[in-house]
Amino acid sequence: MATQPHLIIVGGGAAGFFAALTAKSANNELQVTILEATSQVLRKVAISGGGRCNVTHACFEPKELVKFYPRGNRELLGAFHKFQPRDTVEWFESRGVKLKTEADGRMFPVSDSSQSIIDCLTREAEKLGVSVLLNANLKAVEKQQDGRFALELANGEFMTTDRLLLACGGTRSLKGAQLAESLGHSSLAPVPSLFSFRIKDERLKKLSGVAKQQAAVSSGDLKQQGALLITHEGLSGPAILKLSAWGARIFAEQNYDFTISVDWTAGARVREQFTTSRQNFGKRQLRNDPQFEIPQRLWERLLENAEIPEGRRWLELRKSEEETLVRTLTASCFQVSGKSLNKDEFVTCGGIPTREVDFRSMESKLCPGLYFAGEILDIDGVTGGFNFQNAWTTAYLAGTAMANC
Ligand SMILES: Cc1cc2nc3c(=O)[nH]c(=O)nc-3n(C[C@H](O)[C@H](O)[C@H](O)COP(=O)(O)OP(=O)(O)OC[C@H]3O[C@@H](n4cnc5c(N)ncnc54)[C@H](O)[C@@H]3O)c2cc1C
Repeated sequence: MATQPHLIIVGGGAAGFFAALTAKSANNELQVTILEATSQVLRKVAISGGGRCNVTHACFEPKELVKFYPRGNRELLGAFHKFQPRDTVEWFESRGVKLKTEADGRMFPVSDSSQSIIDCLTREAEKLGVSVLLNANLKAVEKQQDGRFALELANGEFMTTDRLLLACGGTRSLKGAQLAESLGHSSLAPVPSLFSFRIKDERLKKLSGVAKQQAAVSSGDLKQQGALLITHEGLSGPAILKLSAWGARIFAEQNYDFTISVDWTAGARVREQFTTSRQNFGKRQLRNDPQFEIPQRLWERLLENAEIPEGRRWLELRKSEEETLVRTLTASCFQVSGKSLNKDEFVTCGGIPTREVDFRSMESKLCPGLYFAGEILDIDGVTGGFNFQNAWTTAYLAGTAMANC
């Protein structure tokens, strides 16, 4: 079978769908086809955010928003002026999917089900007449002399198109990168981002499940702050995930073998607080008087680690003991020896270099008629809805440009 759609989109994920819908609603004459390699579209949307789909983040100021992207922040600044979280909210709400904002800024459908997002996108595709071909795995692509693209699918079918959008997702499988390379692009080696740290350390034993609402973590020049969770494998939670995102390449180069320092107080004025405790609550035993909102179990373990004798009262705390306790509270060093998957969200660092793409239109600077959107690009955000926002924004720009050229 040989069809000749005007616009072919490779990848039935968030970016592919959003680009298809944007292009088709901007230009209804356009024939738009999505090729999806597997038997199911929007698979990542389905499992995203623990099945709830963290669609975007309640950050509506582009200058602030780009700070959540370890890679791609410079390029996204202009892009967010054209399509940002406010537009995402408006887009979904005007199609019947109300979003809610959680205390930390993450936005989810009020249904708390990613199925609402899937239903909305697929319903819209049907309404607009976007064709979706399942089990349509693009194997090879070639630019013809007439400027059109010749596509070969794994099932032996051939197609041609004027405009081609690669929205094949994270390039961990290298598929999208290979297709782009065959059209003259380069690609930055994929490495994971948003992972937890494996730490085997007696000091964390039997603390699994304990969470500290605010802690600061650092490794080399990298520093992050946020909630910290002790797991049976080591450390996780937003502070760690953010550190893993900003250090994704460095940690990969170090083969996930490095040290981190934890400040359990998140930068509190520890000595001043100790002075206050000594003056006002001198007779209290340290053990019964946790500070800096440190949970009791963790507080007791930190006192043990600092070798503070059982029953020690604030008034009796010796200078040398105080020094050790300050160090333990503000700079506990741990050896990381590997990474673990974060089940709620992970993403690939690497992909098509942003310098090879014109961010006004998402068109390739090297191959006219070729466009990119979503995670195939060397863009990724920290956890919190930023990765989908990248998909919506770049897809919107690509869809608009493809519809108008
Ligand atoms: C478990 C998990 C949870 C997540 N949760 C969140 C979250 O809550 N919020 C958030 O912002 N981000 C989240 N993310 C990240 C987010 O899902 C991705 O950044 C986003 O889905 C990227 O969209 P995409 O369309 O670029 O790629 P994808 O969603 O990966 O879609 C790419 C599609 O292309 C298809 N494809 C690939 N190659 C070919 C080919 N050669 N031919 C045809 N089709 C092809 C693939 O089968 C796939 O369906 C999560 C990720 C994971 C893994």
